[in-house]
Amino acid sequence: MPIRFWGQLGDCCKVYQQNIEYMFGIVGIPVTEIAIAAQATGIKYVGMRNEQAACYAASAVGYLTGRPGVCLVVSGPGLIHALGGMANANMNCWPLLVIGGSSDRNQDTMGAFQEFPQVEACRLYSKFSARPSSLETIPAIIEKAVRTSIYGRPGACYIDIPGDFVNLQMSKSSVKYVECCLPPPVSLAERSAVSAAASVISHSRQPLLIIGKGAAYSHAEDSIRRLVDQCELPFLPTPMGKGVVPDNHPNCVAAARSRALLHADVIVLLGARLNWILHFGLPPRFRPDVKVIQVDICAEELGNNVRPVATLLGDINAVTQQLLEEFSRSLWKYPSDTEWWKRLRETMKNNEEKAQALALQKSLPMNYYTVFHHAKKLLPKDCFLVSEGANTMDIGRTMLPNNYPRHRLDAGTFGTMGVGLGFAIAAAMVAKDRTPNKRVICIEGDSAFGFSGMEVETICRYKLPILIIIVNNNGIYNGVDADSWEEISKFGEPSMCALPNFLLPNSHYEQVMSAFGGKGYFVKTPEELQNALKASLEENQVPSLINVMIDPLSARKQQDFPWLTRSNM
Ligand code: ADP
Ligand code: MG
Repeated sequence: MPIRFWGQLGDCCKVYQQNIEYMFGIVGIPVTEIAIAAQATGIKYVGMRNEQAACYAASAVGYLTGRPGVCLVVSGPGLIHALGGMANANMNCWPLLVIGGSSDRNQDTMGAFQEFPQVEACRLYSKFSARPSSLETIPAIIEKAVRTSIYGRPGACYIDIPGDFVNLQMSKSSVKYVECCLPPPVSLAERSAVSAAASVISHSRQPLLIIGKGAAYSHAEDSIRRLVDQCELPFLPTPMGKGVVPDNHPNCVAAARSRALLHADVIVLLGARLNWILHFGLPPRFRPDVKVIQVDICAEELGNNVRPVATLLGDINAVTQQLLEEFSRSLWKYPSDTEWWKRLRETMKNNEEKAQALALQKSLPMNYYTVFHHAKKLLPKDCFLVSEGANTMDIGRTMLPNNYPRHRLDAGTFGTMGVGLGFAIAAAMVAKDRTPNKRVICIEGDSAFGFSGMEVETICRYKLPILIIIVNNNGIYNGVDADSWEEISKFGEPSMCALPNFLLPNSHYEQVMSAFGGKGYFVKTPEELQNALKASLEENQVPSLINVMIDPLSARKQQDFPWLTRSNM
Protein backbone atom coordinates (compact mmCIF):
# COMPACT_ATOMS: atom_id res chain seq x y z
CA MET A 1 0.00 0.00 0.00
CA PRO A 2 1.43 3.43 -0.86
CA ILE A 3 2.00 5.68 2.16
CA ARG A 4 3.14 9.21 2.87
CA PHE A 5 6.49 9.09 4.62
CA TRP A 6 5.76 11.72 7.28
CA GLY A 7 2.15 10.69 7.69
CA GLN A 8 3.26 7.18 8.46
CA LEU A 9 5.92 8.16 11.00
CA GLY A 10 3.30 8.01 13.77
CA ASP A 11 3.01 4.25 13.66
CA CYS A 12 6.71 3.53 13.23
CA CYS A 13 7.94 1.15 15.90
CA LYS A 14 9.78 2.59 18.96
CA VAL A 15 13.13 0.89 18.21
CA TYR A 16 13.34 2.90 15.02
CA GLN A 17 12.93 6.19 16.81
CA GLN A 18 15.93 8.25 17.84
CA ASN A 19 14.63 9.22 21.30
CA ILE A 20 13.90 12.77 20.30
CA GLU A 21 11.54 14.35 22.80
CA TYR A 22 11.15 17.98 21.80
CA MET A 23 10.71 19.94 18.61
CA PHE A 24 10.57 23.74 18.40
CA GLY A 25 9.76 25.63 15.26
CA ILE A 26 7.46 27.67 13.12
CA VAL A 27 5.32 25.83 10.60
CA GLY A 28 4.49 26.90 7.08
CA ILE A 29 5.03 25.60 3.57
CA PRO A 30 6.44 22.94 3.32
CA VAL A 31 6.90 21.64 6.89
CA THR A 32 3.48 21.80 8.58
CA GLU A 33 2.84 18.11 8.02
CA ILE A 34 6.21 17.23 9.54
CA ALA A 35 5.25 18.95 12.81
CA ILE A 36 1.91 17.13 12.89
CA ALA A 37 3.61 13.81 12.14
CA ALA A 38 6.18 14.42 14.88
CA GLN A 39 3.39 15.00 17.39
CA ALA A 40 1.81 11.73 16.26
CA THR A 41 5.03 9.90 17.22
CA GLY A 42 4.92 11.44 20.71
CA ILE A 43 7.38 14.30 20.14
CA LYS A 44 6.34 17.48 21.96
CA TYR A 45 6.06 20.34 19.47
CA VAL A 46 6.41 23.94 20.66
CA GLY A 47 5.42 26.57 18.11
CA MET A 48 7.60 29.64 18.54
CA ARG A 49 7.44 33.19 17.13
CA ASN A 50 10.88 33.40 15.52
CA GLU A 51 13.07 30.59 14.20
CA GLN A 52 16.11 32.00 15.96
CA ALA A 53 14.47 31.63 19.37
CA ALA A 54 13.17 28.19 18.34
CA CYS A 55 16.70 27.13 17.50
CA TYR A 56 18.08 28.47 20.80
CA ALA A 57 15.38 26.47 22.60
CA ALA A 58 16.19 23.25 20.71
CA SER A 59 19.91 23.65 21.47
CA ALA A 60 19.27 24.19 25.18
CA VAL A 61 17.28 20.93 25.24
CA GLY A 62 20.40 19.24 23.85
CA TYR A 63 22.55 20.64 26.64
CA LEU A 64 20.03 19.85 29.38
CA THR A 65 19.14 16.30 28.29
CA GLY A 66 22.13 15.08 26.23
CA ARG A 67 19.76 14.31 23.36
CA PRO A 68 19.34 16.86 20.58
CA GLY A 69 16.24 19.00 20.45
CA VAL A 70 14.88 19.56 16.94
CA CYS A 71 14.33 22.93 15.35
CA LEU A 72 11.86 22.73 12.44
CA VAL A 73 11.88 25.61 9.98
CA VAL A 74 10.50 26.56 6.60
CA SER A 75 12.64 27.18 3.55
CA GLY A 76 14.76 30.25 2.78
CA PRO A 77 14.27 32.95 5.41
CA GLY A 78 13.03 30.43 7.98
CA LEU A 79 16.25 28.50 7.71
CA ILE A 80 18.34 31.67 7.63
CA HIS A 81 16.77 32.88 10.87
CA ALA A 82 17.77 29.56 12.44
CA LEU A 83 21.45 29.95 11.47
CA GLY A 84 22.05 32.12 14.54
CA GLY A 85 20.85 29.29 16.75
CA MET A 86 22.95 26.73 14.89
CA ALA A 87 26.07 28.86 15.21
CA ASN A 88 25.38 29.37 18.90
CA ALA A 89 24.89 25.64 19.50
CA ASN A 90 28.03 24.74 17.60
CA MET A 91 30.12 27.32 19.46
CA ASN A 92 28.76 26.01 22.77
CA CYS A 93 29.39 22.37 21.71
CA TRP A 94 25.71 21.53 22.27
CA PRO A 95 23.83 18.90 20.24
CA LEU A 96 21.10 20.21 17.96
CA LEU A 97 19.18 18.93 14.95
CA VAL A 98 17.73 21.43 12.50
CA ILE A 99 15.23 20.17 9.92
CA GLY A 100 14.52 22.64 7.16
CA GLY A 101 11.95 22.43 4.43
CA SER A 102 13.32 23.53 1.08
CA SER A 103 12.06 24.18 -2.41
CA ASP A 104 11.13 21.21 -4.59
CA ARG A 105 13.99 19.22 -6.11
CA ASN A 106 13.01 19.96 -9.68
CA GLN A 107 13.14 23.71 -9.11
CA ASP A 108 16.83 24.07 -8.19
CA THR A 109 18.24 27.38 -9.51
CA MET A 110 14.93 28.33 -11.17
CA GLY A 111 14.14 31.05 -8.65
CA ALA A 112 11.53 28.99 -6.85
CA PHE A 113 9.66 30.25 -3.77
CA GLN A 114 12.24 30.72 -0.97
CA GLU A 115 14.89 28.88 -2.94
CA PHE A 116 18.31 28.97 -1.27
CA PRO A 117 21.40 26.72 -1.15
CA GLN A 118 20.47 25.53 2.34
CA VAL A 119 22.69 22.47 2.68
CA GLU A 120 25.74 24.52 1.67
CA ALA A 121 24.75 27.43 3.92
CA CYS A 122 24.46 25.15 6.94
CA ARG A 123 27.90 23.56 6.49
CA LEU A 124 29.55 26.53 8.16
CA TYR A 125 27.29 26.22 11.18
CA SER A 126 27.18 22.47 11.69
CA LYS A 127 29.09 19.20 11.96
CA PHE A 128 26.93 17.55 9.30
CA SER A 129 24.60 19.01 6.69
CA ALA A 130 22.80 16.86 4.13
CA ARG A 131 19.72 16.28 2.04
CA PRO A 132 18.41 12.70 1.70
CA SER A 133 18.50 11.57 -1.92
CA SER A 134 15.20 9.71 -1.62
CA LEU A 135 12.37 9.09 0.83
CA GLU A 136 13.74 5.65 1.58
CA THR A 137 16.97 7.06 3.01
CA ILE A 138 15.39 9.57 5.43
CA PRO A 139 15.66 7.26 8.49
CA ALA A 140 19.37 6.66 7.84
CA ILE A 141 20.09 10.37 7.46
CA ILE A 142 18.19 11.17 10.66
CA GLU A 143 20.09 8.48 12.59
CA LYS A 144 23.38 9.83 11.28
CA ALA A 145 22.49 13.42 12.18
CA VAL A 146 21.39 12.49 15.71
CA ARG A 147 24.48 10.35 16.23
CA THR A 148 26.84 12.99 14.86
CA SER A 149 25.29 15.66 17.09
CA ILE A 150 26.14 13.72 20.28
CA TYR A 151 29.30 11.75 19.42
CA GLY A 152 32.74 13.30 19.96
CA ARG A 153 32.44 17.04 20.57
CA PRO A 154 28.70 17.67 20.42
CA GLY A 155 27.30 20.15 17.89
CA ALA A 156 24.62 21.10 15.38
CA CYS A 157 23.45 19.01 12.40
CA TYR A 158 21.18 19.92 9.50
CA ILE A 159 18.77 17.88 7.38
CA ASP A 160 17.17 19.40 4.31
CA ILE A 161 13.74 18.13 3.23
CA PRO A 162 12.64 19.22 -0.23
CA GLY A 163 9.00 20.32 -0.31
CA ASP A 164 8.03 17.65 -2.82
CA PHE A 165 9.15 14.92 -0.37
CA VAL A 166 6.56 15.92 2.19
CA ASN A 167 3.49 14.66 0.36
CA LEU A 168 5.18 12.09 -1.87
CA GLN A 169 3.87 8.53 -1.62
CA MET A 170 5.92 5.38 -1.36
CA SER A 171 5.45 1.74 -0.51
CA LYS A 172 5.80 1.00 3.20
CA SER A 173 8.04 -1.98 2.60
CA SER A 174 10.69 0.08 0.82
CA VAL A 175 11.47 2.35 3.81
CA LYS A 176 14.93 1.49 5.15
CA TYR A 177 14.39 1.84 8.89
CA VAL A 178 17.47 2.24 11.08
CA GLU A 179 17.61 1.40 14.76
CA CYS A 180 18.23 4.08 17.37
CA CYS A 181 21.89 5.01 17.54
CA LEU A 182 23.89 3.72 20.51
CA PRO A 183 24.74 6.14 23.33
CA PRO A 184 28.06 7.96 22.76
CA PRO A 185 31.02 5.67 23.53
CA VAL A 186 32.95 6.69 26.64
CA SER A 187 36.67 7.15 26.12
CA LEU A 188 39.42 7.08 28.74
CA ALA A 189 42.67 9.02 28.81
CA GLU A 190 46.05 7.32 28.34
CA ARG A 191 47.25 5.88 31.65
CA SER A 192 50.65 7.54 31.40
CA ALA A 193 49.01 10.94 30.88
CA VAL A 194 46.82 10.37 33.95
CA SER A 195 49.88 9.54 36.11
CA ALA A 196 51.77 12.52 34.72
CA ALA A 197 48.83 14.82 35.49
CA ALA A 198 48.46 13.46 39.04
CA SER A 199 52.17 13.95 39.64
CA VAL A 200 52.09 17.59 38.43
CA ILE A 201 49.01 18.30 40.58
CA SER A 202 50.58 16.77 43.69
CA HIS A 203 53.72 18.86 43.26
CA SER A 204 51.82 22.10 42.76
CA ARG A 205 51.99 24.92 45.28
CA GLN A 206 49.04 26.92 43.96
CA PRO A 207 46.69 24.55 42.17
CA LEU A 208 43.35 25.42 40.63
CA LEU A 209 40.64 23.30 39.00
CA ILE A 210 38.61 25.09 36.35
CA ILE A 211 35.21 23.50 35.76
CA GLY A 212 33.60 24.32 32.42
CA LYS A 213 30.29 23.60 30.74
CA GLY A 214 31.84 20.51 29.12
CA ALA A 215 31.97 19.04 32.64
CA ALA A 216 28.32 19.96 33.13
CA TYR A 217 27.37 18.43 29.79
CA SER A 218 29.22 15.21 30.57
CA HIS A 219 27.38 14.76 33.91
CA ALA A 220 30.70 14.68 35.74
CA GLU A 221 29.28 16.31 38.88
CA ASP A 222 29.68 13.35 41.22
CA SER A 223 33.24 12.50 40.24
CA ILE A 224 34.41 16.13 40.20
CA ARG A 225 32.83 16.69 43.60
CA ARG A 226 34.75 13.68 44.90
CA LEU A 227 37.98 14.99 43.38
CA VAL A 228 37.49 18.37 45.06
CA ASP A 229 36.62 16.77 48.41
CA GLN A 230 39.24 14.04 48.34
CA CYS A 231 42.15 16.27 47.23
CA GLU A 232 40.82 19.45 48.87
CA LEU A 233 41.56 21.49 45.77
CA PRO A 234 40.34 25.02 45.12
CA PHE A 235 38.05 25.26 42.10
CA LEU A 236 36.68 27.94 39.83
CA PRO A 237 33.59 27.37 37.67
CA THR A 238 33.20 29.07 34.29
CA PRO A 239 29.82 30.78 33.80
CA MET A 240 27.96 27.62 32.77
CA GLY A 241 30.26 25.38 34.78
CA LYS A 242 28.59 26.90 37.84
CA GLY A 243 26.72 24.34 39.91
CA VAL A 244 28.68 21.24 38.81
CA VAL A 245 30.07 21.56 42.31
CA PRO A 246 27.73 23.90 44.25
CA ASP A 247 28.84 27.53 44.42
CA ASN A 248 28.52 27.43 48.20
CA HIS A 249 31.15 24.68 48.51
CA PRO A 250 33.97 25.99 50.74
CA ASN A 251 36.56 25.30 48.02
CA CYS A 252 34.82 27.48 45.42
CA VAL A 253 37.03 30.50 44.78
CA ALA A 254 34.77 32.26 42.26
CA ALA A 255 34.81 35.43 44.36
CA ALA A 256 38.58 35.59 43.85
CA ARG A 257 38.49 34.71 40.13
CA SER A 258 41.09 37.15 38.81
CA ARG A 259 43.52 36.42 41.64
CA ALA A 260 43.10 32.68 41.29
CA LEU A 261 43.78 32.76 37.55
CA LEU A 262 46.69 35.14 37.94
CA HIS A 263 48.66 33.20 40.53
CA ALA A 264 47.79 29.53 39.97
CA ASP A 265 50.90 27.51 39.12
CA VAL A 266 48.96 24.42 37.98
CA ILE A 267 45.56 24.58 36.31
CA VAL A 268 43.41 21.55 35.56
CA LEU A 269 40.95 22.42 32.80
CA LEU A 270 37.89 20.19 33.02
CA GLY A 271 35.79 20.87 29.90
CA ALA A 272 36.66 24.52 29.40
CA ARG A 273 38.48 26.09 26.47
CA LEU A 274 41.28 28.61 26.79
CA ASN A 275 39.33 31.10 24.67
CA TRP A 276 38.31 34.68 25.44
CA ILE A 277 36.27 33.56 28.47
CA LEU A 278 39.50 32.36 30.09
CA HIS A 279 41.66 35.13 28.62
CA PHE A 280 43.46 32.59 26.38
CA GLY A 281 45.42 31.26 29.36
CA LEU A 282 48.04 33.94 28.68
CA PRO A 283 49.76 36.77 30.60
CA PRO A 284 48.94 39.27 32.00
CA ARG A 285 45.89 37.30 33.25
CA PHE A 286 47.91 34.08 33.88
CA ARG A 287 51.45 33.29 34.94
CA PRO A 288 53.73 32.83 31.93
CA ASP A 289 54.93 29.54 33.46
CA VAL A 290 51.48 28.17 34.41
CA LYS A 291 51.28 24.40 33.94
CA VAL A 292 48.05 23.47 32.23
CA ILE A 293 46.52 20.00 32.41
CA GLN A 294 43.79 19.73 29.83
CA VAL A 295 40.88 17.29 29.94
CA ASP A 296 38.74 17.35 26.81
CA ILE A 297 36.89 15.02 24.47
CA CYS A 298 38.14 16.88 21.42
CA ALA A 299 41.75 16.18 20.46
CA GLU A 300 41.99 19.30 18.31
CA GLU A 301 41.26 21.43 21.38
CA LEU A 302 44.34 20.17 23.24
CA GLY A 303 47.16 22.71 23.10
CA ASN A 304 45.12 25.66 21.89
CA ASN A 305 46.86 28.89 22.98
CA VAL A 306 48.96 27.23 25.72
CA ARG A 307 51.16 24.16 25.44
CA PRO A 308 49.81 21.80 28.14
CA VAL A 309 52.01 19.71 30.43
CA ALA A 310 49.53 16.84 30.23
CA THR A 311 46.71 16.14 27.80
CA LEU A 312 43.93 13.86 28.97
CA LEU A 313 41.87 13.04 25.92
CA GLY A 314 38.60 11.48 26.99
CA ASP A 315 35.23 11.87 28.62
CA ILE A 316 35.49 14.18 31.62
CA ASN A 317 33.49 11.98 33.94
CA ALA A 318 35.56 8.91 33.08
CA VAL A 319 38.88 10.78 33.17
CA THR A 320 38.07 12.37 36.53
CA GLN A 321 37.46 8.86 37.87
CA GLN A 322 40.88 7.85 36.51
CA LEU A 323 42.44 10.77 38.39
CA LEU A 324 40.54 9.79 41.53
CA GLU A 325 41.91 6.26 41.35
CA GLU A 326 45.42 7.64 40.98
CA PHE A 327 44.98 9.88 44.04
CA SER A 328 43.34 7.09 46.03
CA ARG A 329 46.59 5.18 45.68
CA SER A 330 48.83 8.06 46.77
CA LEU A 331 46.35 9.47 49.33
CA TRP A 332 47.59 12.91 48.34
CA LYS A 333 45.64 15.96 49.32
CA TYR A 334 46.37 19.64 49.05
CA PRO A 335 47.12 21.12 52.50
CA SER A 336 44.49 23.47 53.87
CA ASP A 337 46.89 25.84 55.65
CA THR A 338 48.89 27.11 52.69
CA GLU A 339 49.69 30.72 51.82
CA TRP A 340 47.67 30.15 48.60
CA TRP A 341 44.46 29.36 50.50
CA LYS A 342 45.07 32.33 52.80
CA ARG A 343 45.48 34.69 49.86
CA LEU A 344 42.43 33.34 48.04
CA ARG A 345 40.25 33.56 51.15
CA GLU A 346 41.35 37.13 51.88
CA THR A 347 40.57 38.23 48.34
CA MET A 348 37.19 36.50 48.42
CA LYS A 349 36.26 38.20 51.67
CA ASN A 350 37.35 41.56 50.36
CA ASN A 351 35.40 41.21 47.09
CA GLU A 352 32.30 39.90 48.85
CA GLU A 353 32.35 42.88 51.22
CA LYS A 354 32.59 45.32 48.31
CA ALA A 355 29.62 43.71 46.56
CA GLN A 356 27.65 43.66 49.81
CA ALA A 357 28.27 47.38 50.36
CA LEU A 358 26.89 48.14 46.90
CA ALA A 359 23.95 45.79 47.47
CA LEU A 360 22.93 47.58 50.67
CA GLN A 361 23.00 51.09 49.19
CA LYS A 362 19.69 52.76 49.96
CA SER A 363 19.69 55.33 47.14
CA LEU A 364 17.10 55.20 44.35
CA PRO A 365 17.02 54.23 41.53
CA MET A 366 18.49 50.89 42.62
CA ASN A 367 21.81 49.55 41.33
CA TYR A 368 22.40 46.04 39.90
CA TYR A 369 23.80 44.68 43.17
CA THR A 370 20.71 45.69 45.15
CA VAL A 371 18.44 43.93 42.66
CA PHE A 372 20.45 40.69 42.77
CA HIS A 373 20.79 40.86 46.55
CA HIS A 374 16.98 40.69 46.90
CA ALA A 375 16.63 38.12 44.14
CA LYS A 376 19.21 35.92 45.88
CA LYS A 377 17.26 36.01 49.12
CA LEU A 378 13.94 35.01 47.56
CA LEU A 379 14.64 32.79 44.55
CA PRO A 380 14.38 29.02 45.12
CA LYS A 381 17.80 27.38 45.62
CA ASP A 382 17.10 24.76 42.97
CA CYS A 383 15.78 27.00 40.19
CA PHE A 384 17.08 27.10 36.63
CA LEU A 385 18.71 30.46 36.05
CA VAL A 386 18.73 31.83 32.53
CA SER A 387 20.59 35.07 32.11
CA GLU A 388 21.69 37.49 29.44
CA GLY A 389 22.48 41.15 28.92
CA ALA A 390 25.94 42.60 29.51
CA ASN A 391 25.96 43.89 33.08
CA THR A 392 22.87 41.92 34.08
CA MET A 393 24.58 38.68 33.15
CA ASP A 394 28.05 39.52 34.48
CA ILE A 395 26.94 40.90 37.83
CA GLY A 396 24.16 38.34 38.20
CA ARG A 397 26.69 35.56 37.74
CA THR A 398 28.72 36.73 40.71
CA MET A 399 25.72 37.48 42.93
CA LEU A 400 23.38 34.53 42.27
CA PRO A 401 24.60 31.10 43.33
CA ASN A 402 23.99 27.86 41.43
CA ASN A 403 23.65 24.69 43.46
CA TYR A 404 22.93 22.19 40.70
CA PRO A 405 24.69 21.31 37.45
CA ARG A 406 23.18 22.43 34.11
CA HIS A 407 20.96 24.93 35.92
CA ARG A 408 22.54 28.02 34.40
CA LEU A 409 22.07 29.02 30.77
CA ASP A 410 23.51 32.23 29.40
CA ALA A 411 25.01 34.01 26.38
CA GLY A 412 27.76 31.38 26.30
CA THR A 413 30.87 31.02 24.17
CA PHE A 414 29.45 33.10 21.33
CA GLY A 415 28.24 35.88 23.65
CA THR A 416 24.85 35.73 21.98
CA MET A 417 22.11 38.12 23.07
CA GLY A 418 18.53 37.02 22.48
CA VAL A 419 18.97 33.46 23.74
CA GLY A 420 17.18 33.99 27.06
CA LEU A 421 13.53 33.37 26.29
CA GLY A 422 14.23 30.37 24.03
CA PHE A 423 16.46 28.85 26.72
CA ALA A 424 13.85 29.53 29.39
CA ILE A 425 11.14 27.85 27.30
CA ALA A 426 13.40 24.81 26.79
CA ALA A 427 14.26 24.60 30.49
CA ALA A 428 10.58 24.91 31.43
CA MET A 429 9.60 22.12 29.00
CA VAL A 430 12.34 19.84 30.36
CA ALA A 431 11.54 20.75 33.97
CA LYS A 432 7.84 20.05 33.42
CA ASP A 433 8.66 16.47 32.41
CA ARG A 434 11.47 15.74 34.86
CA THR A 435 11.40 18.06 37.86
CA PRO A 436 7.97 19.72 37.86
CA ASN A 437 8.54 21.64 41.07
CA LYS A 438 11.58 23.50 39.79
CA ARG A 439 11.09 27.08 38.64
CA VAL A 440 12.74 28.71 35.66
CA ILE A 441 13.91 32.26 36.32
CA CYS A 442 14.99 34.29 33.31
CA ILE A 443 16.96 37.40 34.23
CA GLU A 444 17.31 39.74 31.27
CA GLY A 445 18.77 43.11 30.50
CA ASP A 446 16.19 45.35 28.82
CA SER A 447 18.13 45.26 25.56
CA ALA A 448 18.57 41.46 25.65
CA PHE A 449 14.84 41.00 26.27
CA GLY A 450 14.04 42.92 23.09
CA PHE A 451 15.68 40.38 20.78
CA SER A 452 13.09 37.66 21.38
CA GLY A 453 10.46 39.50 23.45
CA MET A 454 7.49 38.14 21.50
CA GLU A 455 8.26 34.65 22.85
CA VAL A 456 6.32 35.84 25.90
CA GLU A 457 3.26 34.87 23.85
CA THR A 458 4.74 31.36 23.44
CA ILE A 459 5.34 31.17 27.20
CA CYS A 460 1.72 32.15 27.92
CA ARG A 461 0.28 29.87 25.21
CA TYR A 462 2.01 26.81 26.67
CA LYS A 463 1.35 27.98 30.26
CA LEU A 464 5.02 27.74 31.21
CA PRO A 465 5.44 29.17 34.73
CA ILE A 466 8.57 31.14 33.84
CA LEU A 467 9.44 34.22 35.86
CA ILE A 468 11.16 36.87 33.72
CA ILE A 469 12.99 39.60 35.59
CA ILE A 470 14.07 42.54 33.42
CA VAL A 471 16.82 44.62 34.95
CA ASN A 472 15.96 47.79 33.11
CA ASN A 473 18.54 50.55 32.75
CA ASN A 474 16.94 52.06 29.62
CA GLY A 475 19.80 51.08 27.38
CA ILE A 476 22.61 48.88 26.16
CA TYR A 477 25.47 48.76 28.73
CA ASN A 478 24.22 52.09 30.11
CA GLY A 479 21.03 53.98 29.39
CA VAL A 480 19.36 57.32 29.80
CA ASP A 481 16.95 58.74 32.36
CA ALA A 482 13.56 60.12 31.34
CA ASP A 483 14.45 63.79 31.90
CA SER A 484 17.61 63.63 29.79
CA TRP A 485 15.65 61.83 27.07
CA GLU A 486 13.12 64.71 27.10
CA GLU A 487 15.96 67.20 26.68
CA ILE A 488 17.48 65.22 23.84
CA SER A 489 14.14 65.02 22.06
CA LYS A 490 13.76 68.82 22.29
CA PHE A 491 17.25 69.27 20.94
CA GLY A 492 16.58 67.48 17.66
CA GLU A 493 15.96 64.20 15.88
CA PRO A 494 16.77 61.24 18.21
CA SER A 495 18.38 59.46 15.26
CA MET A 496 20.92 62.27 15.07
CA CYS A 497 21.45 63.17 18.71
CA ALA A 498 20.56 60.26 20.98
CA LEU A 499 23.46 57.98 21.88
CA PRO A 500 23.21 54.68 19.99
CA ASN A 501 23.00 52.72 23.24
CA PHE A 502 19.88 54.50 24.52
CA LEU A 503 16.52 52.74 24.71
CA LEU A 504 13.19 54.37 25.50
CA PRO A 505 13.19 55.24 29.24
CA ASN A 506 10.66 53.62 31.57
CA SER A 507 9.36 51.21 28.92
CA HIS A 508 6.62 49.07 30.41
CA TYR A 509 7.85 45.66 29.31
CA GLU A 510 5.66 44.05 31.96
CA GLN A 511 2.66 44.94 29.80
CA VAL A 512 3.92 42.52 27.16
CA MET A 513 3.32 39.80 29.73
CA SER A 514 -0.09 41.06 30.84
CA ALA A 515 -1.14 41.40 27.19
CA PHE A 516 -1.06 37.60 26.94
CA GLY A 517 -2.65 36.84 30.31
CA GLY A 518 0.47 36.55 32.48
CA LYS A 519 1.24 38.76 35.47
CA GLY A 520 3.27 41.94 35.01
CA TYR A 521 4.93 44.06 37.70
CA PHE A 522 6.64 47.45 37.35
CA VAL A 523 8.94 48.08 40.31
CA LYS A 524 11.19 50.91 41.39
CA THR A 525 12.07 50.20 45.03
CA PRO A 526 13.49 47.24 46.98
CA GLU A 527 10.13 46.81 48.77
CA GLU A 528 8.22 46.70 45.50
CA LEU A 529 10.77 44.24 44.14
CA GLN A 530 10.45 41.94 47.15
CA ASN A 531 6.65 42.01 46.95
CA ALA A 532 6.63 41.28 43.23
CA LEU A 533 9.11 38.42 43.67
CA LYS A 534 7.07 36.88 46.48
CA ALA A 535 3.80 37.22 44.56
CA SER A 536 5.17 35.75 41.33
CA LEU A 537 6.89 32.85 43.11
CA GLU A 538 3.69 32.02 44.99
CA GLU A 539 1.69 32.00 41.75
CA ASN A 540 3.58 28.96 40.61
CA GLN A 541 1.41 28.17 37.61
CA VAL A 542 1.34 31.61 36.02
CA PRO A 543 4.05 33.17 33.86
CA SER A 544 5.14 36.56 35.16
CA LEU A 545 7.43 39.43 34.33
CA ILE A 546 8.94 41.88 36.79
CA ASN A 547 10.27 45.02 35.15
CA VAL A 548 12.81 46.46 37.59
CA MET A 549 13.86 50.05 36.98
CA ILE A 550 17.46 50.72 37.96
CA ASP A 551 19.89 53.61 37.71
CA PRO A 552 20.74 54.01 33.98
CA LEU A 553 24.37 54.62 34.99
CA SER A 554 24.71 51.66 37.38
CA ALA A 555 27.83 49.65 36.57
CA ARG A 556 30.04 46.80 37.74
CA LYS A 557 32.22 47.36 40.74
CA GLN A 558 35.83 48.31 39.99
CA GLN A 559 37.56 45.41 38.18
CA ASP A 560 41.26 44.54 38.32
CA PHE A 561 41.42 44.19 34.55
CA PRO A 562 39.43 46.01 31.85
CA TRP A 563 37.02 43.79 29.93
CA LEU A 564 38.03 42.18 26.64
CA THR A 565 40.87 44.45 25.50
CA ARG A 566 43.44 42.11 24.00
CA SER A 567 46.49 43.99 25.27
CA ASN A 568 45.05 44.08 28.76
CA MET A 569 43.84 40.52 28.93
P1 ADP B 1 33.27 27.05 29.10
O1 ADP B 1 32.53 28.05 28.25
O2 ADP B 1 32.52 26.63 30.30
O3 ADP B 1 34.66 27.48 29.38
P2 ADP B 1 33.75 25.54 26.73
O4 ADP B 1 32.49 25.47 25.93
O5 ADP B 1 34.76 26.54 26.31
O6 ADP B 1 33.37 25.69 28.25
O7 ADP B 1 34.46 24.14 26.71
C1 ADP B 1 33.75 22.95 26.82
C2 ADP B 1 34.68 21.86 26.38
O8 ADP B 1 34.17 20.64 26.84
C3 ADP B 1 34.83 21.74 24.86
O9 ADP B 1 36.16 21.88 24.49
C4 ADP B 1 34.28 20.34 24.56
O10 ADP B 1 35.03 19.69 23.56
C5 ADP B 1 34.43 19.64 25.89
N1 ADP B 1 33.51 18.54 26.13
C6 ADP B 1 32.20 18.45 25.85
N2 ADP B 1 31.70 17.28 26.27
C7 ADP B 1 32.72 16.60 26.84
C8 ADP B 1 32.85 15.33 27.46
N3 ADP B 1 31.83 14.49 27.60
N4 ADP B 1 34.06 14.97 27.92
C9 ADP B 1 35.13 15.79 27.76
N5 ADP B 1 35.06 17.01 27.21
C10 ADP B 1 33.88 17.42 26.75
MG1 MG C 1 20.09 47.58 29.63
